[in-house]
Amino acid sequence: EAPVGDELIARRVDRAISLRVGTLRLDESDTDAFRVIHAEGDGLPGLIVDQMGDVLVCCFDSLGMRRFRDVVLGVLKERLQPRTIVERFSRMAREEEGIEGTDGVIDGDEDHVVTTIRELGIEHTVNVLLGQKTGYFTDQRDNRLFLSGLAKGRRCLDAFCYTGGFALAFEKIGGAEHVVAVDSSQPALDVLSEDAARAGLTHQEPIKANVLRHLDHAAKASERFGLVNLDPPKIVRRSKDLTKGLRLYHEINTKGLSVCEDGAIFATSSCSGTVSADDFERMVAQAAFTAGVRVQLIHAGGAGADHPVLVPHDRSRYLKFRAYRVFTLHRSNTGK
Ligand code: SAH
Repeated sequence: EAPVGDELIARRVDRAISLRVGTLRLDESDTDAFRVIHAEGDGLPGLIVDQMGDVLVCCFDSLGMRRFRDVVLGVLKERLQPRTIVERFSRMAREEEGIEGTDGVIDGDEDHVVTTIRELGIEHTVNVLLGQKTGYFTDQRDNRLFLSGLAKGRRCLDAFCYTGGFALAFEKIGGAEHVVAVDSSQPALDVLSEDAARAGLTHQEPIKANVLRHLDHAAKASERFGLVNLDPPKIVRRSKDLTKGLRLYHEINTKGLSVCEDGAIFATSSCSGTVSADDFERMVAQAAFTAGVRVQLIHAGGAGADHPVLVPHDRSRYLKFRAYRVFTLHRSNTGK
C-alpha cells in the first residue's frame, strides 16, 4: 500500500465505516450505537471512534494519529453526518503519549452532549462528555442479547452495571423477574433509573455499593440469584500486574459464584487485554473450586463484529465473555 499519508488514512476510515454500515448494516438495525473505528483492528492505531446515536465520540490516542485529525474528521462528517462531534482524551493518551487536551465538542451542535441511543431496541441516555470512556460500552451488545435470552423468570444480579446496558436488557428483552443492579457510581445509577422508568421497566433495583462488599453481605444473608453477571472495569493495565490482577478477578468471581442458586447462570467478563482467554477460563475454574460449586461452560463470546481484529494483531481481542451454568449441590455452608 501507499506510504502513510492523508489518502491512505482517508481510505482506511472509509473502509471502517463501510464495514459497519455497508456490511454489518448496523445503521438499518435496532441499534444506533456502535464502534465506527477500532484502532489497530481497522488499521488505524491510536484511533477510536464510537457513534452514539447522532453524536460521534473520537479519541486520538497517539501523536501519530493526531496528525491526521482533520482528514479523519472530514471523512466521518461526510459519510455519517453527525449532529455533534466530541473529542475525549483517554488516560492512555495522557499517560503514555503525553497528549494534553480537554474533552469537548469539536464540531456541530455545542449544547448536544447528552443524547439518547438505541441498542437492541432499548433507549439509553448517554452523556458523551461526562460518561465513562466514550459514554456507553457498545462492545457488550451481543453478550447483552445472549444473556437476556436466559433471564426469563430469573432473579438477576448485574454487578458493575454502569448505566444498565445488561440490567435493562434482562427485563425488557429477557423478561427477568427482578434485577438487582450494583455499581459504585451514583450518576450511572441515576441514568439507569431514568431510562428504566422511561421504558416502563418496574423490576429494577439499583444499589450504590462496592460490588465486593455487597457480595459479602449478600452471601452472609444467604441471598441467592438465578443469574449473575460480572462486568468489572479493566483490572490489569500492564503485564507486570497480571498476577495481582488475576487474584482480584479470582476474588470477584468467587464472590459472584457464592451468590448463585443451584442451576443459576453465571456470566463473567474481562476487558483486560493482557489477560488471555486461557488465563481467564483457568481463573474461573479456580474460583468455582474456591466457591465449592461445579460450573459448565455454555457460551464463549467477545466484542461484537464492529470491534474487528486485524489478524494477527491479537491485542485488539481484549474482551472475554463467558457464561456458565452453576451446580451448587456440593457447596459447603462454612466457606465463603
Ligand atoms: N456492565 C456495564 C459496564 C461496566 S464498566 C455495561 O454494560 O454498560 C465498569 C463499572 O464498574 C463502572 O460503572 C464503575 O463505576 C464500576 N465499578 C468499578 N469498581 C467498582 C466497585 N468496586 N464496586 C462497584 N462498582 C465499581
